[in-house]
Amino acid sequence: MNHSESHLDVVVIGGGINGVGVAQAVAAAGYSVALLEKSAIAAGTSSKSSKLIHGGLRYLENFDFKLVRESLKERELLLQLAPTLVKRLPFFIPLYQQSSRSTLKVATGLMLYRLLAGFHSKTGFRVVHRREWEQLDDLKLDGLKKVFQYWDAQTDDVALTRAVMRSAQQLGVELHSPAEFLCAESLDHGYRISYREAGATRQMQATIAVNAAGPWADAVAQRFKPALPVIATQNVQGTHIEIDMQLSRGAYYLEAPADKRAVFVIPWMGRTLIGTTETLYTGGPDDVHPLESEIDYLKSVFSHYFSNGNIEINAAWAGLRVLPAADTSAFTRTRESSIVADDAQQPHALTVFGGKITSYRVTAGKVLQLCKQTLEKRSAIADTAKLHLET
Ligand SMILES: Cc1cc2nc3c(=O)[nH]c(=O)nc-3n(C[C@H](O)[C@H](O)[C@H](O)COP(=O)(O)OP(=O)(O)OC[C@H]3O[C@@H](n4cnc5c(N)ncnc54)[C@H](O)[C@@H]3O)c2cc1C
Repeated sequence: MNHSESHLDVVVIGGGINGVGVAQAVAAAGYSVALLEKSAIAAGTSSKSSKLIHGGLRYLENFDFKLVRESLKERELLLQLAPTLVKRLPFFIPLYQQSSRSTLKVATGLMLYRLLAGFHSKTGFRVVHRREWEQLDDLKLDGLKKVFQYWDAQTDDVALTRAVMRSAQQLGVELHSPAEFLCAESLDHGYRISYREAGATRQMQATIAVNAAGPWADAVAQRFKPALPVIATQNVQGTHIEIDMQLSRGAYYLEAPADKRAVFVIPWMGRTLIGTTETLYTGGPDDVHPLESEIDYLKSVFSHYFSNGNIEINAAWAGLRVLPAADTSAFTRTRESSIVADDAQQPHALTVFGGKITSYRVTAGKVLQLCKQTLEKRSAIADTAKLHLET
């Protein structure tokens, strides 16, 4: 053993929302932690999201009540902990003669959403009166039969991820970025981790390695000796476009005419985001980019619903969701995270698959519980449910 190598309780690989969330939670529980990020904090999927802190109204259609309830609880907590980063946003759902979801179905979904959020919070919904329709950002009124308005929340995904990282550093987490994890060799009680930082290859040891590399998780698992167990997943690409239009009332939850998927039109920094798509992706995660067909699909949803002809695209980007492999449509597959351990009783390596920005603390909490099975008991130094996050 090289005695100059530092030995930590936990090394986290990946500085997306899941990695920084795990680092924060494990450090708050009193353990020593380092985090390796190969590019920059939030450089991966965590900067390509729809930027919603939400329960996910549409997951109710898949009867994913547990995930919705859990995410709504997190939404309310994040609104309190990070008021400058997470803000309530009104959403409008226009229903037309040709909409596939009936008024009754949407009203029932909104009622359930409210119920799952807890009636105490500001989570009501309403039917928007006809006289207000004219003020709905050039929304086409032809065939419009009902408009519902409800509340969810929005964040700046990069700023939120950075804020959680800063909170983790305040709890003592050692950040290495840019620092690429190269490989891990199994030791009696943990791993020797090799990583590249500032042009040099360096080592550290850790009792537990957490692979939170998002769409790169399979590749990172293969760099362990022996390779870490994984579950069958698929990377599904989601594209957003940004157009030069300012929404005055809030966000719109629309049904894509082509395939009935939900597409959001969201106000973002004085402009408008339209997203997203779900396209199976089999290439390397570093090469993902928006496809022309996805851009056309998003433009066509927008022009189907809005009479504003200005769809000059300022920017387009794509991110990758890690979803459980299946033959069913990506739209219906769960967004709940899965954690795979190398050993069910005393794990020394854990891999995080999937999840949502909204529920990063829930994912981190599950990882922490597994870490505690292996690590010695320590006194907690903080509670992430009480730590404020600043811009
Ligand atoms: C289109 C789209 C829209 C979404 N919208 C929402 C939404 O509105 N709300 C919501 O709650 N969730 C949303 N999600 C889900 C959410 O964005 C993801 O679940 C979350 O960002 C995943 O975070 P992560 O930390 O697992 O992965 P990532 O953010 O991808 O982080 C992984 C990190 O690992 C690093 N890494 C990889 N390999 C190595 C290595 N060898 N060494 C060191 N570092 C490495 C990468 O650079 C990267 O920074 C959306 C997802 C997509 C794709």
